[in-house]
Amino acid sequence: MSKLFIFLGPPGAGKGTQASQIAKNFNLAHISTGEMLREHVTNQTELGKKAKNLLDEGLLVPDDLVINMLVERLSHTDCKNGAILDGFPRTLGQAKSLQNISDDFPINKVFVFEADNEELIKRILLRGEVSGRSDDTEESIKVRLDVYNSDTAPLVNYYQEQQLVTTINAIGEIEDIYNAIALHFNNL
Ligand code: ADP
Repeated sequence: MSKLFIFLGPPGAGKGTQASQIAKNFNLAHISTGEMLREHVTNQTELGKKAKNLLDEGLLVPDDLVINMLVERLSHTDCKNGAILDGFPRTLGQAKSLQNISDDFPINKVFVFEADNEELIKRILLRGEVSGRSDDTEESIKVRLDVYNSDTAPLVNYYQEQQLVTTINAIGEIEDIYNAIALHFNNL
């Protein structure tokens, strides 16, 4: 049985940074659906062609495409011990699809990253200068924050009702935030 840990929070909250460190130190797979989609775009796969414009505009890729991609990824051997989901689920439909595979992949905890909009926009614009990510523009950031609030934020309640949520203050030093998250993995 492979445990799933969900990192949920708005763009720019630092989910990816923390997920990669936690995954490395606690022997878990780090699955970023955003990274996977960007690879598909780079490799010009069928999925990449469908996703490219949506990604650039900051809109979500349709549920069925992302769900298939995620379920296939979970079958890889590096997920044997468990995985951190970074950027999935992002809609209620995606969350329900995870429930369907919960016999094999039960959700252990949902970490909700909290940060204010001003800080998020500042971080993403800074990141864009370095990463060159085509969706780290002011226009796309605004759309992504709106999409987060309308489609993804309701998942906080959904998981709160299942008593799976741990809130993380995503403002501060990367190392302090790491320690706050790692505490929960040390206690597993
Ligand atoms: P960020 O959190 O900074 O927006 P991500 O790398 O997590 O960055 O996601 C980048 C883009 O990839 C999203 O704006 C969206 O277009 C697409 N994407 C990633 N994960 C999903 C998902 N679970 N469902 C739909 N689209 C997704």
